[in-house]
Amino acid sequence: EKEPVTVLVTGAAGQIGYALVPMIARGMMLGPNQPVILHMLDIEPALEALKGVKMELIDAAFPLLRGVVATTDVVEACKDVNIAVMVGGFPRKEGMERKDVMSKNVSIYKTQASALEEHAAAYCKVLVIANPANTNALILKEFAPSIPEKNITCLTRLDHNRALGQISEKLNVDVSDVKNVIIWGNHSSTQYPDVNHATVATSNGKKHVRELVADDNWLNSEFITTVQQRGGAIIKARKLSSALSAASAACDHIHDWVLGTPKGTWVSMGVYSDGSYGIQPGLIYSFPVTCDKGEWNIVQGLKIDEFSREKMDKTAQELIEEKALANSCL
Ligand code: NDP
Repeated sequence: EKEPVTVLVTGAAGQIGYALVPMIARGMMLGPNQPVILHMLDIEPALEALKGVKMELIDAAFPLLRGVVATTDVVEACKDVNIAVMVGGFPRKEGMERKDVMSKNVSIYKTQASALEEHAAAYCKVLVIANPANTNALILKEFAPSIPEKNITCLTRLDHNRALGQISEKLNVDVSDVKNVIIWGNHSSTQYPDVNHATVATSNGKKHVRELVADDNWLNSEFITTVQQRGGAIIKARKLSSALSAASAACDHIHDWVLGTPKGTWVSMGVYSDGSYGIQPGLIYSFPVTCDKGEWNIVQGLKIDEFSREKMDKTAQELIEEKALANSCL
């Protein structure tokens, strides 16, 4: 039998955490034959709730779950973790300045980065979900210099999946037949959902999404804004932010990173830019990536038209500004 993999979830008593931990314990993140140990971290006011989540995990009798730690101690939480999913963060409350939120998150991510740096297992893989996700990931990278930069990523898979979902609804095709959309840039409303390379598997072979939709107007406006603003639409409907879809996307992200993307398909991940597609190196930016043997690689050579170029640069610009704001909080 395989050795258990230790997975850390921060902010585990929150909404996304509550949806995510049972998925991990059921094998949706690392596969149906991979035992897991869960480390759940949260802050003192959430400790009682966190203990409740631990009780429920025990009560669910998940066969793959080989241990659960529920703690407010960041060192205990980070000890020997192989995969860290960072969901905890300071929420933007009404009336708060962007800088105030950034400064709270910079301090959280500095502390957690140092704990991972010292106590996580070698080659720990990190996924940041808490907003501003790209910039929180960048802070984490700065303060955990021994973790390879290729191991620090942020979540844009939810945006990617939302784009697949919109295309599937529009064309009335199975979502699993839609492939190779791209989310470029920041996990924010400036992200650019791009369908220029997306395809649908049909009984007559692969067809381009642009050809099948045959409505550039919809693809260039409503489709993009729907994906960009989907989070807000969920909050309006549910009076709470998206949680089950965010948790599911987090599982997809780690699953594909660790176990690989199917041949001929790619996914979107927020990763450290190497300058591909003219994106400033040193930003955490969402790119199309393929994964193999636990490593992601940016898909190269895609043709970028003028419409896309402008949108890709705009979201990069926002990340440059966020990075400067974060640096001013250090
Ligand atoms: P959620 O579980 O709903 O969300 C957690 C984080 O994920 C938020 O930063 C949220 O950003 C972000 N997020 C990123 N993408 C998405 C998405 N697509 N949909 C929804 N959320 C997304 O928040 P809760 O408040 O329920 O839980 C947060 C937990 O973190 C709590 O248990 C709290 O105790 C803990 N916490 C820990 C801190 C620390 O470690 N020091 C500080 C503060 C809280 P957004 O806010 O923009 O929606």
